Amino acid sequence: MQQQTKALHAGYDKDSQGTMAVPIYMTTAYEFRDAEHAANLFALKELGNIYTRLNNPTTDVFEKRFAQLEGGEAAIATASGMSATFYAIANSAEAGDNIVCARQLYGGSLTLVAHTLKRFGIEARFFDVQNPDSIEALVDNKTKVIFFESLTNPSIDVADISAITAIANKHGILTVVDNTVATPIICRPFEHAADITVHSASKYTTGQGLAIGGILVERKSLLEKLKGNPRYAHFNEPDASYHGLVYVDVPLPPFTLRTRLSLLRDIGAVVSPFNSWLFIQGLEHLTLRMKEHSANAQALAEFLEAHPKVTQVNYPGLKSNANYENAQKYFHKGMCSGLLSFEVASLEAATKIVNATELYSLVVNIGDSKSIITHPASTTHQQLSEAELIACGVPSGLIRISAGLESVEDLIADIKQALEA
Ligand SMILES: *Cc1c(COP(=O)(O)O)cnc(C)c1O
Repeated sequence: MQQQTKALHAGYDKDSQGTMAVPIYMTTAYEFRDAEHAANLFALKELGNIYTRLNNPTTDVFEKRFAQLEGGEAAIATASGMSATFYAIANSAEAGDNIVCARQLYGGSLTLVAHTLKRFGIEARFFDVQNPDSIEALVDNKTKVIFFESLTNPSIDVADISAITAIANKHGILTVVDNTVATPIICRPFEHAADITVHSASKYTTGQGLAIGGILVERKSLLEKLKGNPRYAHFNEPDASYHGLVYVDVPLPPFTLRTRLSLLRDIGAVVSPFNSWLFIQGLEHLTLRMKEHSANAQALAEFLEAHPKVTQVNYPGLKSNANYENAQKYFHKGMCSGLLSFEVASLEAATKIVNATELYSLVVNIGDSKSIITHPASTTHQQLSEAELIACGVPSGLIRISAGLESVEDLIADIKQALEA
């Protein structure tokens, strides 16, 4: 089935009312038929709803639909993109372990791995996403995850996904790919041997900047990689917190199963059913929107590249861009998403441009239908030191644009007047 068809139909069997739109099951809990039914659900002898921290029928449709779009086996929706990333790492690593991460990460992910997880005893080791060959020297028998973004925010690099997954698979290490900016419409990391993807649903999935949420997706047949793998004893040994359950012995996708039974249960960063419903609405037209976002960003990038005040344009759809080859290899139908950035001479020049635009909103978000402009050095990346800024590819004169769905003529005219103001 094609993506656009899945986006409209996957994961939903109409209820007894024949409801065309997926209903919002706004409920905390579910009635058990009797004590035996309750016991069977908790023991996984029967699958069904228990409590909305663990599962919900509206969220279930969102998870199934997203998993199919990504080409994965199962998914867990979460309260935010950050909690999806946290779950992916917490489900793989524990105190004393390390994770190997691309330097070019979303600001929140960078502080998560470099600072918060450090306090949990998990060490982050960094590699340059442009140089996957440097990964192997960082790996040891305590490495549990290789984490990177397919299309990086805000530095806009395209990862050489198969080069990275080849190294991970040589050592039996899980790869976690943040696929937020590319979306399953443009890039499908499982086609290149990645194991887990995470997304912020707050971006292109909602598509209109309506709600915070996230999702974690597990590839097909991940069981084979986890079963008997000495790095992941917690999947292969009885879980004392779940009456001795051995995750790889259950005929269900093991990574999402453990995330649900253990992490959703104990940490509880769960999505609201209402937000799941909003994300379902967003998915219906994600294919159409990604085409438009990509076309608008491409036209803006070409305009900026020709402008004398612009010293550098970063957009993987430009032939001059270092990521062009990877984009051609990993992205579907030549689409490169809506994120582009460009550099002007100084922090002052960047601030002036950001203040002079009228159509672009100064917002720390991406993936909205309305165009957005940001100056990362003074906002999303303000907590980082000058050295950290350079290391993650965010010079102080860098301006990031998330191209929305306005008419491209208007988008170009507004950025032109701001540059020349
Ligand atoms: C926004 C974003 C996140 C975090 O998602 P939230 O939903 O805001 O928690 C993670 N990764 C990338 C690439 C993002 O753009």
